[in-house]
Order: sequence, then C-alpha cells, then structure tokens
Amino acid sequence: MLCEQCQQNQSIVLLTERVSEGVTRRQLCGACAEPLLAEVKPDQILGATFLEAPKFRNNALPDSVELGETVSVSDLAAALGLRPVQVIGSLMRLEVFVSAKDSIDFATAAQLCSRYGVIPRPVCIA
Ligand SMILES: [Zn+2]
Repeated sequence: MLCEQCQQNQSIVLLTERVSEGVTRRQLCGACAEPLLAEVKPDQILGATFLEAPKFRNNALPDSVELGETVSVSDLAAALGLRPVQVIGSLMRLEVFVSAKDSIDFATAAQLCSRYGVIPRPVCIA
C-alpha cells in the first residue's frame, strides 16, 4: 500500500495517533512518518507498528557503541547508523515514547542496542 500522505512511497509504518475526534490510523512511508515521530508530542502517538522490518542490509551496524549516562535519541541513531525514526519506533516497542530531541538513560539505550545486536559500552565520565 502506498503512503497515505505523499501517495508516492511504499508505506512502512502504521501510525496510531490521538486526534480531537478520537483515534486515527495512517499508513505512512518512512519519510512522512519521521517528522511526525520527531515533532509530535509523544502522548499524541499511541503506537507505531513497522509493517516491514527496517532494512539493515545496507547499514553497517557497529559492533559496539559507547554510551554515557544519557544519550539523545538522535545521537544514538547516528551512533548506530540508523535513522531517528527507526530508533523511535524500536523504543515504542519497549514502551518508551520519545521524540528525536529527547534523551534516554543508559539502561534504555543499552536495551535498544541489544535488540540490534550492538554491544553497549558504558563511558566513564570523569
Ligand atoms: Zn509518504
């Protein structure tokens, strides 16, 4: 199915949003979903289900990433070589609702890394 917003790209995510009339579900492509997931208040997004697994074949995931006590979602995405929307979607499956600008703690980041088979390495901050 094509993306309901741009009508051009294949949709990859089913987004459930809270709107004034109730709840709406939209199937969007990654490009259209990403700004929504990055900017909309997390409590407006009730869920995001990826219709196909994010394609990692072209991404060279690192063996490990260094994590401080907290890391912003966008920094973590960059460290993993993923798009922020992929990290936000994965965090939703862990029932953590954040936007790209938010920070998550080490434990949450480590849990996310392990889902991608990436070893989280704590950085000692002097
Ligand atoms: Zn689209």
